[in-house]
Amino acid sequence: MSTAAPPPSLPPLPAAHPGEGLAAEMLARLFEHARPLVDALFAQVTDGVTLQAQDFSLCFANPAAARILGAASPEELLRKGSPVVFERYEVLDAAGRPLSIGQMPGRQVISGRSVPEMVLRFRDKRTGAEHWSRVSAAPVRDAGGQVVYAVNVFREVTEVMRTQERLSLLAEAGELLSTSLDLESTLAATARLLVPRLADWCAVHLAGDTTPSRQVASIHMDPAKLELARRLAERYPTDSQAKRGINHVMRTGLPELTSDITDAMLVAAARDEEHLSLLRELGLRSMMVVPLNARGRTLGTLAVATAESLRRLGQDELRLVEELARRAALAVDNARLYAEAKRAQARQEVALEAGRMGAWEWDIQAQRVNWAPALERIHGIPEGSFGGSFEDYQSDMHPEDREHVLTSIQRVVAELQPEHHVQYRIILPDGRVRWVEAHGRLTLDEHGRPSRLTGVCTDITERLALEEDARRLVREQAARAEAERARQHTAELLASLEKAQAELAQRAQELSRSNADLEQFAYVASHDLQEPLRMVASYVQLLSRRYKGKLDADADEFIRYAVDGATRMQALINDLLAFSRVGTRGKELVPVPLERSMERALSHLHLALKESGAEVKVEPLPWVKGDESQLAQLLQNLVGNAVKFRGERPPCIRVSATREGDTVTVAVEDNGIGIEPQYYERIFAIFQRLHGKEEYPGTGIGLSICKKIVERHGGRIWVESTPGQGSTFRFTLGTATAPQA
Ligand code: ADP
Repeated sequence: MSTAAPPPSLPPLPAAHPGEGLAAEMLARLFEHARPLVDALFAQVTDGVTLQAQDFSLCFANPAAARILGAASPEELLRKGSPVVFERYEVLDAAGRPLSIGQMPGRQVISGRSVPEMVLRFRDKRTGAEHWSRVSAAPVRDAGGQVVYAVNVFREVTEVMRTQERLSLLAEAGELLSTSLDLESTLAATARLLVPRLADWCAVHLAGDTTPSRQVASIHMDPAKLELARRLAERYPTDSQAKRGINHVMRTGLPELTSDITDAMLVAAARDEEHLSLLRELGLRSMMVVPLNARGRTLGTLAVATAESLRRLGQDELRLVEELARRAALAVDNARLYAEAKRAQARQEVALEAGRMGAWEWDIQAQRVNWAPALERIHGIPEGSFGGSFEDYQSDMHPEDREHVLTSIQRVVAELQPEHHVQYRIILPDGRVRWVEAHGRLTLDEHGRPSRLTGVCTDITERLALEEDARRLVREQAARAEAERARQHTAELLASLEKAQAELAQRAQELSRSNADLEQFAYVASHDLQEPLRMVASYVQLLSRRYKGKLDADADEFIRYAVDGATRMQALINDLLAFSRVGTRGKELVPVPLERSMERALSHLHLALKESGAEVKVEPLPWVKGDESQLAQLLQNLVGNAVKFRGERPPCIRVSATREGDTVTVAVEDNGIGIEPQYYERIFAIFQRLHGKEEYPGTGIGLSICKKIVERHGGRIWVESTPGQGSTFRFTLGTATAPQA
């Protein structure tokens, strides 16, 4: 526990308000009194909390802060201050840019700048291990508005950030690989994603069908190292039968991970002195080689290594790279399948076309069509049986295609277009339908008139089927890749959802624990503080009574300040006590008549109502399930505020209830000063006030008590208002039936 820390000394008070000095001194005493409680409370909190003074020194730190900032204990952290962090860690921002000590949020806040919450990444200089922390810094100001302290809160977010990084890496890789046209450059881009996010070096090798494997990408943080690696590979090519490394993984299809590469390993692997010195120069620290496996075959490897960053690759990183490798392998496999299909198609086309092509000629002037015997075979008629007229030519044409064939011929002959090119269907004598493609060229006679149309006709039925097959293959592969991506995506989502849920549950548990702690603390502190405060208050009151007018004017004023300070503090402590009692001292919820709580509230407010000339209209209120005295307190706070925050007019307050199912909504409506919409939420938080104490007295606890009471009753509370016109506070409760008399 951090008891060694001195209590923060309060800032010097401006001389113009000597009376506040007394109150400040009292506060310091009270703080000292409460110090063990503060320490005990913050020791329970899992977030790191530090208090930093104007000279940047730390005057309070809890154990969690010491752990997160790399100190052995809060005492060490307080002694050495924030440099201890920079001694041990390289501090980076979320994007991985190094941060200087002056950029730490606490220092910025003390220097008068406001900083948004930020994520810091701490990289251990010795081990390269990293952790992330979300940091927020808030200023504490003195009466003159000067920043005197910064409160820093550090929350460990390593797991969340890791998951986020991992997901975004996989998503980016998935994107890259699914749009792959040029496989090798895509694989290089994928390798580039890993450096420097995960490692300092990454290489992709692809297995050849017959040739040995080939490196298709090699990415390194430091180009000099890249050159070194290339020299090494050239002078000492890896043995294809090696027991470890890329070739081994290529053969076995099993991943390899070496988390810590020791010098002894280098010595064992080196073939001679020079090899050893090159290996040492490369300075690898951690390495893994992961196979690109698809459909039971190893298509290549993905190798990653760390060196200068000192990071250590472990099981987590292995899982991530394996996941990435699975996607890359799928892309490689698809690309290969596609290329194979294309090659096969080309081969088949050549073979087929040779046998399924026939020449024809149309003598336009003689109105005769000649077909080569191959063409008669294509049309399924016996050799020499083609009649030769234009009608004969059209006779087996598919009726749906006839028009567009004739249009093309027409264009060539009438408009003297040089080329005729059409695809159409023919119906063979046995009823089968075939696709043919005709190419023709026009020749003119010596007068420039169309004389002949000569060309070839090819049966393209198989080619079209093959093309359709290839298209289907591509579609199927795309669908397969898509399904795989969707499956992975769902799995990732599920995993991160589970993690988030677990984290949420843990946070909720921590929160309820620290809420309970806080409540307990508030109770004990305010209870314990009552006694010394009562003493202070009665003595200053005594002072005031006995010496008023007997000392000089200044003394009278000081005494007035002291009395005022003590009275305010008493009000604060009473309210705090009431606040902490809502959760701890509540009674069981039973059917109660809300009207009785209302009467109690009004009788407590009797004096204030009378003085202000308020008119209170209470409509019939139902029976509800509740704690009668807490409901009275709730109504008293709301009606009390309606009186306190009145405008020029005498207060006019209406309390009503509407029922819907088993819920009743109670409304307390006033014609007071109203509230701007941006404060609707904030006013329900503890100590939040919209006015100075001179304008309207109060502690800022009333509405938070209301909220706590309503929530304890399972309801909710909210406000609507028109500034200058009035406000309506509404809350819900569960209805109950009145017991039969
Ligand atoms: P306190 O009354 O002690 O200031 P509360 O928690 O009861 O504390 O209220 C918080 C703030 O909400 C008040 O300071 C005031 O600015 C605003 N407020 C509460 N009730 C009303 C109201 N009926 N009309 C206008 N402002 C209100």
